Amino acid sequence: MKPINIRLLAWYDSHARTLPWRVSPGEGRQGVLPDPYHVWLSEVMLQQTTVATVGPYFEKFIAKWPTVKNLAACDLEDVMKAWAGLGYYSRARNLKACADKVASEHDGKFPQTAAELQKLPGIGPYTSAAIAAIAFGERTTVVDGNIERVSTRHTANSTPLPQVKEHCREFMDRVTPADRPGDFVQAMMDLGATICTPRNPACSLCPINDDCQGHIQQIAEQFPVKAPKKPKPTRVGAAFVAQRPDGAIWLTKRPNKGLLGGMSVVPTTGWTASKNGATGYAAAPIVGDWIPHGHIRHTFTHFHLELEVWSAHVNMLPGDGWWSLQHQIGGEALPTVMKKVISAVADDLFKVPK
Ligand code: SF4
Repeated sequence: MKPINIRLLAWYDSHARTLPWRVSPGEGRQGVLPDPYHVWLSEVMLQQTTVATVGPYFEKFIAKWPTVKNLAACDLEDVMKAWAGLGYYSRARNLKACADKVASEHDGKFPQTAAELQKLPGIGPYTSAAIAAIAFGERTTVVDGNIERVSTRHTANSTPLPQVKEHCREFMDRVTPADRPGDFVQAMMDLGATICTPRNPACSLCPINDDCQGHIQQIAEQFPVKAPKKPKPTRVGAAFVAQRPDGAIWLTKRPNKGLLGGMSVVPTTGWTASKNGATGYAAAPIVGDWIPHGHIRHTFTHFHLELEVWSAHVNMLPGDGWWSLQHQIGGEALPTVMKKVISAVADDLFKVPK
């Protein structure tokens, strides 16, 4: 039986997914490597987010900022607006900080090793290893969710996550070749995304099924074993959509650090991941005839949030912030939870009161 990397690379040569940040396997075989800026941008976007979601955001960023120097030269506010909806907003702030550093300290060229890449903002062990392998051909050890699934199934390793990650790293270290390590890593990712899927893996089509213990023993779907999840708490709070007679709504900016850091929001009560915020119209930041619009629910990584939504027409300014007119709202750096809040009052928005 041929080694795993030979079988997998042969499969990749004819089955690789076409993704906008990649070069084709044919180019990869000839030693052509993708643009490190594209690889870095896609890897940061793909943290906690699916390929399908990332695609349009990636295209938008590349069209707006074709090089890392262009990204460094723009305002953080513009990056936050372009990122709005992708979630985990600290990634966007780190993205900008990283672009600034690559432009100012490396003349717009990304360092070429995982060790050097890891010194940049927002680039941890996984991302540095992935960029170094894919963009620079360094033989690193890359483990993401897809690779965890393939490697635990192939070895039928029943150690639960996250402890099994170390085993996955050993597995990848054993099988990653010195030649085309980036294509090999992407082949593992593609196998996990298209064949070795969480449910109903298509083992009969898999290029490494001959020695896959999960398949041979018919227990593939058991892996990776997950430790039981702690239930997420539900936090409550209230959000207040203050509307001016011309239909503009009042927005404020969250502090740069913390949840939704740097994003634009309507005023809310002080909910956090660990405590509830006040509810009821009496908690509104300004006096007004607040009308209830029910609740919206949003799930963050560690908790669910249930927000009461209130709206009122007001004339005075309720603190630091700005009025955003109807045609400006779409361009604001609104996180998804705020889009839900504003949608909840959409029927009443932009109507001038009698
Ligand atoms: S044979 Fe099945 S379980 Fe094993 S790696 Fe392939 S798809 Fe996954």
